[in-house]
Amino acid sequence: MPDHPPNKILRDVFGFPSFRDNQESVIDHVTRGGDALVLMPTGGGKSLCYQIPALCRRGLGIVISPLIALMQDQVDTLKQLGVSAAFLNSSLDAESAREVLRQLQRNELKLLYVAPERLMTDTFLNLLERLQKDNGIALFAIDEAHCVSQWGHDFRPEYRALTVLHERFPNVPRIALTATADSPTRREILERLALEKAKQFVSSFDRPNIRYRITLKANVRQQLKAFLETEHPGDAGIIYCLSRNKVEDTAEWLKAQGWDALPYHAGLDAAKRSKYQNRFLREEGVIMVATVAFGMGIDKPNVRFVAHLDLPKSLEAYYQEIGRAGRDGLPANAWMTYSLADVVSMRQMLMSGNALDERKQVELQKLDALLGYCESIECRHQTVVRYFGEEHPGNCGQCDNCLVPVETWDATQAAQMALSCVYRTGQRFGISHQIDVLLGKETAKIEQFHHHQLSTFGIGKELAQQQWRSVYRQLVAIGLLTVDIESYGRLKLTQAARPVLKGQQKVWLRCDAKPTKLKTSKAER
Ligand code: ADP
Ligand code: ZN
Repeated sequence: MPDHPPNKILRDVFGFPSFRDNQESVIDHVTRGGDALVLMPTGGGKSLCYQIPALCRRGLGIVISPLIALMQDQVDTLKQLGVSAAFLNSSLDAESAREVLRQLQRNELKLLYVAPERLMTDTFLNLLERLQKDNGIALFAIDEAHCVSQWGHDFRPEYRALTVLHERFPNVPRIALTATADSPTRREILERLALEKAKQFVSSFDRPNIRYRITLKANVRQQLKAFLETEHPGDAGIIYCLSRNKVEDTAEWLKAQGWDALPYHAGLDAAKRSKYQNRFLREEGVIMVATVAFGMGIDKPNVRFVAHLDLPKSLEAYYQEIGRAGRDGLPANAWMTYSLADVVSMRQMLMSGNALDERKQVELQKLDALLGYCESIECRHQTVVRYFGEEHPGNCGQCDNCLVPVETWDATQAAQMALSCVYRTGQRFGISHQIDVLLGKETAKIEQFHHHQLSTFGIGKELAQQQWRSVYRQLVAIGLLTVDIESYGRLKLTQAARPVLKGQQKVWLRCDAKPTKLKTSKAER
């Protein structure tokens, strides 16, 4: 092991008594020269996973990050701790950039944060080669590694070029980090960054201190007002809206109501954005009303709530956004209102965009997964982590569904129809086709695959198309079906579907999707 053992650095440099869950094993692995993929939720403590190995190993640690605005903060913090760190990105003037290069050449730096487009220049790569021969490169850390994924919400084409690092510096360990953990993204990171042999470290994605609250829209402003007044007087929080206009309007309205609210979106000039961001970070009780342009990498420990006035794009995006709440471990609310009208307009927005069809399909399925989560009657913690491939016992006692049981209907029969239709069509089709079969539509696809001959053809006319959509989404959310996002949203049965198909287990679903003819039974589950 190196002269500077990791736990000594943790204590002496960072002033923390102990590591958090996976930190120690990641640090140990990378310090020994291994490649790693680290999946850790926002606020989990990813930075130490590369900072400490960089300090333990000989030479310079290079951190690649797309978040120019945050490099300064990270570097300032490190300097305060006595670590010689610097950053290189387009925000530096020419003279400061030259000074950083001089420091590099004199081997005065232990950690350098660099934007990917800067790193990829020939001059810079050549410089790195010289440094490598000279004093060595300790590691490459690729932060926000999901930016390499073209299906993700933060795709950065420059990230694709990062395989050069592996080709030109095969002996330097690489550690990729992200808080986005669904399996398609994970696979894409491994493949795109040539990290197939890297060791994977996956932390739990449950955030036990988050209290999930999801309601249907009625009068949004009144709902928001009641939420803020009863639960968050004087608290700092973030309110996400889809459009810039809505951000401005909502911030204005909140200000008029006496709240300390600021707008934030990409349409504001840079000076304003950084001023507002600083107020949010440094002052108490500021509410940031923002589009998704705000928040990546924001490390304010006492954000007490994140509210969504519009649906996020996907469960990953939602999880990242709510992940900014309660980083200090104290209770925090993730509150959201949505309506099916929102869903319709989001669908239209997705479909009208100029993305490839394949990509649109993926985005639609991601939206469906999010809706399934909204509609689920199960513990929110359980539904969220299931999406990330993790088990949770449920019954958190904190989320809306655990606190106030939802009105449900006995949907066993509908579930059986939906599941057996998936089975009979060979588990090779998506939701829309299943519904066409259940409703007995004579589409070309149904003709082609002779699905009008199936026993499930036309047996589902008691429910309308929208209701069936909701049934399917909820069946996915509760884990009776899985969706293969990468192959056109094919539905597949899980083990858990068996007892339902055999009539050994009932299925209760949220009332929103119940057939109007059926009576509601107040859930006494
Ligand atoms: P991430 O990058 O995963 O979102 P950070 O690396 O910014 O998270 O860490 C989140 C917060 O947790 C920071 O304030 C950091 O100082 C703190 N932290 C990280 N590791 C530890 C630890 N072992 N003990 C105490 N605090 C820690
Ligand atoms: Zn719960």
